[in-house]
Order: sequence, then structure tokens, then C-alpha cells
Amino acid sequence: MSDEVNPFESLQSQIDDAAAYLDVGDDVIERLKHPERVLETNLTIERDDGDLERFTAFRSQFNGDRGPYKGGIRYHPQVSRDEVKALSGWMTYKTAIVDIPLGGGKGGIVVDPDDYSEAELEQLTRSFAKELRPLIGEDRDVPAPDVNTGQREMNWIKDTYETIENTTEPGVITGKALDSGGSEGRVEATGRSTVIAAREAFDYLDKDLEGATVAVQGYGNAGWIAAKLIDEMGATVVAASDSSGGIYNADGFDPVAAKEHKNETGSVVGFEDSEAALTNDDVLTLDVDLLIPAALENAIDADLAEAVDADVISEAANGPLTPAADEVLEGKDVFVIPDILANAGGVTVSYFEWVQNRQRFYWAEERVNEELETIIVDAFDALVETYERHDLENPRTAAYVVAIQRVADAFEEAGSWP
Ligand code: NAD
Repeated sequence: MSDEVNPFESLQSQIDDAAAYLDVGDDVIERLKHPERVLETNLTIERDDGDLERFTAFRSQFNGDRGPYKGGIRYHPQVSRDEVKALSGWMTYKTAIVDIPLGGGKGGIVVDPDDYSEAELEQLTRSFAKELRPLIGEDRDVPAPDVNTGQREMNWIKDTYETIENTTEPGVITGKALDSGGSEGRVEATGRSTVIAAREAFDYLDKDLEGATVAVQGYGNAGWIAAKLIDEMGATVVAASDSSGGIYNADGFDPVAAKEHKNETGSVVGFEDSEAALTNDDVLTLDVDLLIPAALENAIDADLAEAVDADVISEAANGPLTPAADEVLEGKDVFVIPDILANAGGVTVSYFEWVQNRQRFYWAEERVNEELETIIVDAFDALVETYERHDLENPRTAAYVVAIQRVADAFEEAGSWP
């Protein structure tokens, strides 16, 4: 379910909410509400049948005050200029709340990849990489995977860039396969930060995670890993859903077995340990201790928020609550760990990948996970400190206050040109 919400307007309203608590001038806030630049480009490829087809693509470089622009590339028919701008802004504040030396960017191609062959997608990706080449680089802008892109596309982009530049520069892009310079722990990182943040929130709220009930919406990379790790922490996963529907067992089920069922059949629906079939909205409104939305943006609007019955929400997805839903949940005292912190494990391990690429020295998974743990716990502590100091109602506002202040400080410390 979703309101018709323009994501760029959502981002700007989140910044406005935080601005009241910031020691930052209105003129600087105005600058931090807009991307520095947006590339809009047309890509033309030759289809397998010989016809030409044109696609629109974008790359938004939102802010580079703290380091190279960083953010994924999405392939989806609904990609738009405003969506890419919003996502690049969220990346800016995500890298700032976890305090890694990167800025924010995002890109996308308006395409449904299911309609194209692998050879056509390779042409399209290399064509975009050629357009991006003057803008990207390990010290300029470092793209990554997003919806419908993965290691395959990242490897193509790296190869196109390195071939044209006649160089070896694996740090130009992250999310690569291990053999192409990827990092251990990257695939699990988003689910891992989602549950580390949830564990910290339970501790802060004096709630017991052992035996706590959990519902997970979306059983892809972020959702299923979060389910597996929270189960290992002692919580009980009672419900999960994907785009085909949901499953439920009041006594809990094995998240790994549910994933195996999804691998075999394409969906969690029909899983043998499920005692009831639920709709997606049922899963979002269950009476649980923890809800993990891990599908797409705007999953919970104000109407659905009225029915949400979770104590804590840890946002694995980007923007799963509309601003109106956020207000409703604030009124119901639901503690929402915002996406820019909860799912920041992905970009944090991307940062580790970039560091390893630059050093040509690769870490064991244990080190990746330990460093990630420290960064997410520190970010959560910074959020709570600000949440209490300003007596805020909404942890999201606290996260933006911390993040925007860090970006504004870097901007102001850089001084100005005469
Ligand atoms: P994915 O494609 O692997 O999985 C998405 C899942 O959501 C699938 O199981 C799909 O069936 C399900 N889904 C789609 N529509 C649904 C609906 N209406 N109801 C219930 N389930 C639905 O994607 P992912 O990588 O897991 O990403 C999920 C979210 O997490 C996205 O918002 C993404 O931007 C965010 N995120 C992912 C990463 C990452 O590293 N993977 C990092 C940061 C944020």
C-alpha cells in the first residue's frame, strides 16, 4: 500500500524537520536540500533483433563535502529524476550518520531488465559506464549495486572504466564479485546492520531480544539475512513475506528453511512450517516486538500505520514509511530505527571494499564484521545522545540532526572561494 509520495519531497521534509535543531544557517540548509549536479543521458543499444532502442539514465551527485560521491545504480521502469535525487540525498546522510569519509550519489536507468537478454543488458551497462566515465573514479564518485543490479553489472562497469582509462582501479566501483575485488561480508552487510541496530534499540528500551517476536516484509538479500541473524540472536521470527504473499507461525519458524523453500519455488508462500497464509499488509500489521520492512519504499502509508502493532521498526529498506506514516507511528510511540542507520551496513562494507581495493590488501570476514559492528554501535549511540539531548519524539529526526551537522561542518570548514 502506498501514498502517492514524491521521494525528493520526502527527503526535503526530513531535512526541514531536523533543521530546527541544528546550528546551521538556512542558506546552508537550502544547499544541503539539493544535489550538486544531476547527469541525465540517453543510451542507445542495438537489440538482438537489430532494432535500436533508447533509454533514459541518471546519475545524481548530491554532496561531496565529506568524500567521493557514493551510491548505487538501479535498473527499474519507475526510475525518475526525482527518485534518483532523493536516493542520492539519503546516501549523503547515510554515509554521514555512520561517519565514513564518503558523500552521496545515486544512479539509475529506466528499464525493466526482465525484458532484455544478458547481451543487451551488458551493452546497456557498458554504454552507461562510458557516459559515467568522466564523472566517476575512486576519488570522485564510486557507484555500487541497487535494485536489479548486482556483481555482474559492477564487474562490467569496472571493466569498461579500466579499459577506457587503461588502468587498474577496482575502487572505482563496489559490490563486485570476490574474484574481481569484492569484500567478504558485503552480501550479508545490510541485514547485519539492520539487526545490530535492532539489538541496540532493544537494549536502549530495556526490552528483551531473547524470545522477541519478529515479522519481516520482503525476503530478498536484506530481509532474509536479517531474519537469519535475528533468529541467531535468540529472537523468534513468526512472519515473513515477499511479493507473492506472507507466511506465519506463532511459535516461529526456521528462516533458513523458509529461504530454501523460496529458492526452490520462487516464494516463501507454501512453506511447510507456515500455519497461516497472510497478505503483505497482514505481515506489516502483526502484533510483534520487531518489524523489519525489507522490500521497497512507501510500503507503509498513514492508513496502514494506524494498524501497525510493532514496538520497534528497523528499516532495512530505503524509505519504507511515508512521512505521514512516520507521524502516525510517532504518535503511537513506535521506536523507528531509520533506514539511513539501520541499512547502512551495505554502504559501510562497500567503504571497506574501497579501502581494501586501494590498499590491495584483503580482510577476513571476521574483521569486516567486527569493524561493521563498531561503526553501527557508534552511530546508534550518536543518534541516542542527540535524541535525548533535544528531547526528540522521533529517532529519524535525531539521525538527520547528527548527519546534517556533520555534512554542514565539513562544508563550512572548507571555507569559500573569493
Ligand atoms: P531484493 O530484490 O533482494 O529483495 C526484495 C524482496 O522484497 C523480494 O523478496 C521481493 O519479493 C520482496 N517484495 C517486493 N515487493 C514486495 C511487497 N509489496 N511486499 C512484500 N515483499 C515484497 O532487494 P534487497 O537488496 O533485499 O533490497 C530490499 C530493500 O533494502 C530496498 O529498499 C533496498 O534499497 C534496501 N537496501 C538494500 C541494500 C543491499 O545491500 N541489498 C542496502 C541498503 C538498502
